[in-house]
Amino acid sequence: MSESMRGSRLGATSYEVDSGQFAPRALTTYVCVDGHRVTMPFSADADEIPDTWPCSCGLQGIQMGAVPQPKQTKHVRTHWDMLLERRTVKDLEDLLKERLEVARAKAS
Ligand SMILES: [Zn+2]
Repeated sequence: MSESMRGSRLGATSYEVDSGQFAPRALTTYVCVDGHRVTMPFSADADEIPDTWPCSCGLQGIQMGAVPQPKQTKHVRTHWDMLLERRTVKDLEDLLKERLEVARAKAS
């Protein structure tokens, strides 16, 4: 990675992927001395997860350890996927053949 890229890519949105899918995340919980908890979702492949995080009360929270978060691997179903859930390709071929015969019968 070049120096210019590193400079411009730093920031909270660096780990977001354009396709709308998210990089794997791990939840990191911080606890301040008053017992408040703050949970931050950091990218699992983030180089550095801070050891402390500012609590909303103004104190510093201490990292409790990363808690794995279920991956957001929800597959975006296409119309084709939904069709295949109801019918097999063999069904579709039979259906197509049937419809073609109907169409041919009408045409003749
Ligand atoms: Zn606090």
